[in-house]
Amino acid sequence: MAVFYKLLPLLITIAVAALFIKVLSPWWFRYKLKKLMKFRPSISVTDASGFSIFEADNVVKKFHWKDIDKIELTGSEVLKLYFKDTSMLTMWKRDYTGWLALIKTAPATLPVNDAFAKYKDEYFSNLSCCKVCGKIAVKNDECPNCIADTYEKYCKDMESDGEKIQTEREFLRENQLDWFTAFIDEGKVDFHSKEILYDDCPNWTPLVTAAEVIQYDKEMEA
Ligand SMILES: [Zn+2]
Repeated sequence: MAVFYKLLPLLITIAVAALFIKVLSPWWFRYKLKKLMKFRPSISVTDASGFSIFEADNVVKKFHWKDIDKIELTGSEVLKLYFKDTSMLTMWKRDYTGWLALIKTAPATLPVNDAFAKYKDEYFSNLSCCKVCGKIAVKNDECPNCIADTYEKYCKDMESDGEKIQTEREFLRENQLDWFTAFIDEGKVDFHSKEILYDDCPNWTPLVTAAEVIQYDKEMEA
């Protein structure tokens, strides 16, 4: 019995740790992931002349295609931009929001390697509609536009984790609330913003209202 009492603090520690891992860590990881994603530099293409990279602290770097000598893709994740002034920029897919925009919008006249050309051809063909953001962007059950999985993939993941599964409507609404907070402008929500990479899904309508998105955004800020 004395041994049991000696071990009691250890047992309690193990029980608390197990509880933390089971209950809190999925939430914690999601929270961290979201924070991390918010801080990724983002690539924006607004016209045919080039692109801008928005970094932390409102730093914006503008690049022109005419200053670039060639682009190479290594594997399916790393872009190397070789500039005419002999400088080079290496861009990992995971480090930039909008990384795909570079591949989609690079001018056809710009020299690229075979891997780049192949990736571009394969990636932007046979996309399907994302029910979350309403763009024709889904490939392999993931939408790179709004970073949501398809409901089918979500169900599979939740089943294998033994987690409770939301209905499709709940799932879509939750993801839409998250996604469309980025499109609030002067008390309105732009559900149909033009996207340079992807076309609009025909007949798509959101399952959340502008008022709900704005309310959700306020709750998140609080
Ligand atoms: Zn989407």
